[in-house]
Amino acid sequence: MSRFLKEAFKSLSCYVPGEQFQDRKFIKLNTNESPYPPSPLVAARAMEAAKCLQLYSDPESAALRQAIAGLHQVKAENVIVSNGSDEVLNFAFLAFGDASHPFVFADITYGFYKVLCDVNDIPYVTVPLREDFTIRAEDYPDSGHIVLADPNAPTGIPMPAEEVEKIVQANPDRVVIVDEAYADFSESDCLSLALKYDNVLIVRTFSKSRSMAGARLGYAIGNEKLIVDLKLVKDSIDPYNVNLMTSAAGIAAIEENSYYMENCEKIIRTRRKTVKKLESMGFSVLPSGANFVFARHPGIGGEQLYRKLKDKGVLIRHFSSERIRDFNRITIGGEEQMDCFFNILDDCLNEL
Ligand code: PMP
Repeated sequence: MSRFLKEAFKSLSCYVPGEQFQDRKFIKLNTNESPYPPSPLVAARAMEAAKCLQLYSDPESAALRQAIAGLHQVKAENVIVSNGSDEVLNFAFLAFGDASHPFVFADITYGFYKVLCDVNDIPYVTVPLREDFTIRAEDYPDSGHIVLADPNAPTGIPMPAEEVEKIVQANPDRVVIVDEAYADFSESDCLSLALKYDNVLIVRTFSKSRSMAGARLGYAIGNEKLIVDLKLVKDSIDPYNVNLMTSAAGIAAIEENSYYMENCEKIIRTRRKTVKKLESMGFSVLPSGANFVFARHPGIGGEQLYRKLKDKGVLIRHFSSERIRDFNRITIGGEEQMDCFFNILDDCLNEL
């Protein structure tokens, strides 16, 4: 670090993303990307848009917002788009959090929430997940703005919409952000709450179910006034936050919605098979509504298994925090990838 870095940032621990090796081929099951490529129309539209890169993108992202609004049957005024959903999460933390408005989130959840509080100097409170790693409404009294990942990450456990609604009702004067990055792989979602209550913000991403992690596109849906607040922050930080190519790709992905929904079905089918196979090998697997599973084996520590698999060319994700260090998060890949993964996993377990 340079001698100019401000004091408050000297001890900042930033978000650590999953490994992205550029120089070695791995079976990559560590960052919850889709195993399926974007539809050909998406690539064609992005290429077409590239011919106009001398121009700025539309700061209103009007056409893209309209397309997302159509997809979810809301108004464009209920939608804001962002450079990945991490960006719109940042807008929300900046808009609503300060020294007297802390954020509340689970002790085990998406690591970025803590980072966003730290970098924006917002206090936070963590609420322990129950023994079975579930979130219960009664653990979220009226104590701060709330952010929930549903399904949660890295556990994958989905929350019943009624349970989320209880939290919303118990916190009428707080913003409740529901981060639905993985909702397309789950049986339920909380979108309807965003129109029913004026304090609910639903955050979604094109990175997982729509095969666009590398394009960076996320969005939030909520009451028009909440969206105005987020837009104020966006226009103060990054008015052209969604670039021309990504915007065109996003609109095309919505036009080809059925292709992506079929891919989600495939991933859900592969997830079911994966759970069965893991269980037959002695793993216990938490219930998942996401494109990954969270599993542990009584015969091998999480980190040891992660390292063994990495040595043999497979990347999965291990988290070292106390409560979950026995587990590994395994992204659901394509059928062939999963067959290779299981062969290699078998070798690892046989070596014990
Ligand atoms: N929320 C959750 C729960 C996630 O796991 C991720 C992916 N790391 C994100 C948000 C951010 O995704 P992106 O910025 O790619 O939209």
